[in-house]
Amino acid sequence: MRFNLNDLATSTPSIHSDVCIVGSGPAGLSAARKLASLGFKIFLAEGGGHGREGNLKSCYEGEYIGDPNYSMAWQRRRYFGGSSNCWGGWCRPLDSIDFNREDIDDHCIWPITSQHLIPYSADAAKILDVDNQFDSRDIPGSKFKQIQFQFSQFEKQTNPRPTRLREKYGLEIDNSKNITFCVDANLTDGSFYKGQTVKYLTFTSSIGKRINVAAKYFVFAMGGIENPRYLLWFRKKFKAEFSRLNLPIGRYWMDHPHYKIGEVVYFNKLETQVSSIETKWYGPDGHAYLSFNSNALLSLRSLNGGFRLKSRKNHARITKRIIEEFACAAPALAAKIAGGENICVYECLFAYEQFPDKENRVELDLANVDLLGIPRVQIFNKKREQDSLTLKHTTLALSDWLTQSDIGRMKLESWLAAAMVGENQTVSYPVPFYAGHHMGGTRMSNTPSTGVVDKDCRVHGSSNLFITGSSCFPTGGHSNPTFTIVQLALRLADHLANCLKSN
Ligand SMILES: Cc1cc2nc3c(=O)[nH]c(=O)nc-3n(C[C@H](O)[C@H](O)[C@H](O)COP(=O)(O)OP(=O)(O)OC[C@H]3O[C@@H](n4cnc5c(N)ncnc54)[C@H](O)[C@@H]3O)c2cc1C
Repeated sequence: MRFNLNDLATSTPSIHSDVCIVGSGPAGLSAARKLASLGFKIFLAEGGGHGREGNLKSCYEGEYIGDPNYSMAWQRRRYFGGSSNCWGGWCRPLDSIDFNREDIDDHCIWPITSQHLIPYSADAAKILDVDNQFDSRDIPGSKFKQIQFQFSQFEKQTNPRPTRLREKYGLEIDNSKNITFCVDANLTDGSFYKGQTVKYLTFTSSIGKRINVAAKYFVFAMGGIENPRYLLWFRKKFKAEFSRLNLPIGRYWMDHPHYKIGEVVYFNKLETQVSSIETKWYGPDGHAYLSFNSNALLSLRSLNGGFRLKSRKNHARITKRIIEEFACAAPALAAKIAGGENICVYECLFAYEQFPDKENRVELDLANVDLLGIPRVQIFNKKREQDSLTLKHTTLALSDWLTQSDIGRMKLESWLAAAMVGENQTVSYPVPFYAGHHMGGTRMSNTPSTGVVDKDCRVHGSSNLFITGSSCFPTGGHSNPTFTIVQLALRLADHLANCLKSN
């Protein structure tokens, strides 16, 4: 059943449910549907509308401090389905090595392994409309493996675009007996007991209608910025009533830096030169995907990163430009390219794992509140030495492999070329070509000193507050996050179902 909080006749009524879930993006919706299918009563609160963003979209505005970034409001959607209303549909689970990089730092570890999430892969694939097949194969003679992404395609034949969960599940939620779906219901307040228990949460609509929701369990699924923001706000407002632990809320925040790092000239089509390259794994626009294999990651002590090699359409014009650029510094190479019959050029994009640094954090901007009276956020985010090493090591290895095996050559963007001159050169990062994978901030950890939630996504010290979404990721790998977000949400639903049964 769906209703709009604005349509309530009385003000501040109360509702009881088994689980109250805040946020109807991929995380909240996946958890809600699974719990409802097991017979539990769910109150699902969505701050935005059913099919549009209202004036409360401005609550998503905030300020990035540090490396250049895009507007925070642009990076998210605040209505039913969350950012699945605009996502690109790229899917891939994390690599198993991403769950444990203690070789780099004590903080680079999850309290669970990839094995804990694999049982949820098939259902996550169904929800996101992708094949549950993510193969990879080492490329002989190199430090690289070719990897496979899947691309979400709702109605493959008629309307091949990434799945919008609002369109896919709207009717099911409207008709659900077990889900009470309340739109225009923004989390604004709550009642807490002894720093351990949430008694109820309060939701406010755009015209000021309010509802209190009591439940056995509460789940925050508001995305990778709002989850830490609301925990920070409740801690500030309710102090020890909310939590008695000094949790690192907002800390270890991460994104996936995405940069165009250069162009790669192949002397022959990639797949004709490298026998293990699978063309059937190519994505839209002829992308091929490479990343370091595990041995290279461990031996170079590099975090994970993925190259997206995008075939350029206008080869002749781009090849001519590259020949001109090479002509002075490397005339023999320019002549080789000019004389080649099967030369092709790929744009080289790199998306990589950001180091979970404690100083990269979400903070409340107390001088600046949104329309609901809640402080906006400032996000301090700066790439660290480990991030520059990941970028440099991986790029250098790709360039060396191309040159030594005489497959092709790489031409770097000038900002990166300048930084590659010496190991200690700092990188002047330009504006990335994409940003918006918000991770960390309520990271998962075995102890409250290093994390906000435990291995079951329960807030340390709380008996009934859980968080789901990429804010729980202790490390980010380089895969786009939504597949893992859905796996985690389904795992949380299983855990809550067990708790409810044993109650
Ligand atoms: C342009 C773009 C392209 C992307 N492409 C990809 C991609 O190709 N592959 C990929 O894996 N990921 C991609 N992403 C990221 C992906 O969209 C997110 O990882 C995913 O949507 C996160 O899911 P979530 O449910 O945790 O959060 P969200 O999708 O952010 O959902 C949070 C929900 O909570 C609601 N909410 C927020 N605050 C409140 C409140 N106070 N009260 C009540 N409700 C509230 C919001 O309205 C929203 O519905 C992309 C993102 C963007 C912006």
